Amino acid sequence: MLGLGGIGSGAAYWLAREAGGGILGLEQFELGHVRGESQDHSRIIRLSYHRPDYVQFAKLAYLAWAAVEADSGTRLILKTGGLDLGPRVSAIPLESYMQSMEAGGVPFERLDAAEIMRRWPPFRLSDDIHGIFQADSGIAMAARANAVHQSMAKQHGALLREHTPVTAIEDAGDEIVVATADATYRCGKLVIAAGPWSNRALAHFGLRLPLEVTKEQVTYFAPSDIRPFTPERFPVWIWMDDPSFYGMPVFGEAGPKVAQDAGGKPVEPDARSFDPDIENLKRVTDFLERRMPSALGPVIYTKTCLYTLTPDRDFLIDVVPSHPNITIAIGAGHAFKFASAIGKVLAELTLRGRTDADLSLFSYRRPILELADPPKTYMV
Ligand SMILES: Cc1cc2nc3c(=O)[nH]c(=O)nc-3n(C[C@H](O)[C@H](O)[C@H](O)COP(=O)(O)OP(=O)(O)OC[C@H]3O[C@@H](n4cnc5c(N)ncnc54)[C@H](O)[C@@H]3O)c2cc1C
Repeated sequence: MLGLGGIGSGAAYWLAREAGGGILGLEQFELGHVRGESQDHSRIIRLSYHRPDYVQFAKLAYLAWAAVEADSGTRLILKTGGLDLGPRVSAIPLESYMQSMEAGGVPFERLDAAEIMRRWPPFRLSDDIHGIFQADSGIAMAARANAVHQSMAKQHGALLREHTPVTAIEDAGDEIVVATADATYRCGKLVIAAGPWSNRALAHFGLRLPLEVTKEQVTYFAPSDIRPFTPERFPVWIWMDDPSFYGMPVFGEAGPKVAQDAGGKPVEPDARSFDPDIENLKRVTDFLERRMPSALGPVIYTKTCLYTLTPDRDFLIDVVPSHPNITIAIGAGHAFKFASAIGKVLAELTLRGRTDADLSLFSYRRPILELADPPKTYMV
């Protein structure tokens, strides 16, 4: 395993659970560090997706988390229900979400603005707004889930080494030689889950993908009354337009969390700052002033985090071309909910050479990934 963020920790867990010993995970920083993509208290998990293959994969995501919860005796998913809402004419039409869920047999409700405000009084909406509510959506407890994946991976026999950057990889065909500052490891298979550092890992094979790493941020607000925003009374929500915003009920801090999706600027993962982008925060507060004014209050804190974006915003989960013993996964800025399921799929590809999950749209060889400067579609 190269990388022990959200996906790598999931893969380490499933590899160790299936194979027992012989699993080594290497992480360049400390376990639980905040320099990548996967930390903070919460991430949205939902079945509501724009394509049927994601809806099917999201079902596997819930099953994978349930298996980890049962194995560890630790709760990782909190169902709050989820609301996707926006203008009837918008950059992210709800129709494809409804069609995908209908195709997958996922129940949901269509709501008009009046009904949304009746159920969740903090919203301030005009008549042109509509939404869909799906009851299984909720919070994946990100930092806790990573720690549980790591702890249970060790429990099942994996060796996880932190502060151990991989500095060189050589694929010799029958074995892969992985070098760190103080050791050389020879292994039969390698899984790469390097997040924002994916192109640095792929450079060992002379490969490069048209990825964009952006610095995103989330803000916790302290409204004067947090009670309407508790998980029992308020859903996770996504504003389906451009710009797109999303939020969580009170979880981890004493106030709701709100952010703009894909609203950050491109950065180099090793050279980026951790300072909040004030313009991004203003877009979020302007949105709340208009649509959810009672969520506003003093900023508890704004926390930055990275997205690794593929141009079509689809995942990459595949064997590395010409390297049949090496697999790679890239999360495209919406993969935490799938971290355990992707880890399971990577374990299946690694240990059995096949998986039943439909990965056809997450292929390394899809044409857009062969373009040096592809068109970008981040609003999905
Ligand atoms: C603000 C924000 C909000 C998000 N919201 C959601 C959401 O609501 N729902 C959702 O599903 N997803 C969400 N996401 C996306 C999701 O969190 C990511 O897709 C997912 O966490 C990616 O995990 P990863 O393991 O690929 O990356 P990372 O967690 O960054 O892990 C990669 C790891 O590899 C290590 N590494 C890299 N190179 C080396 C090397 N050479 N040697 C050793 N180690 C190495 C890194 O140090 C890092 O720990 C959000 C992301 C952000 C930033």
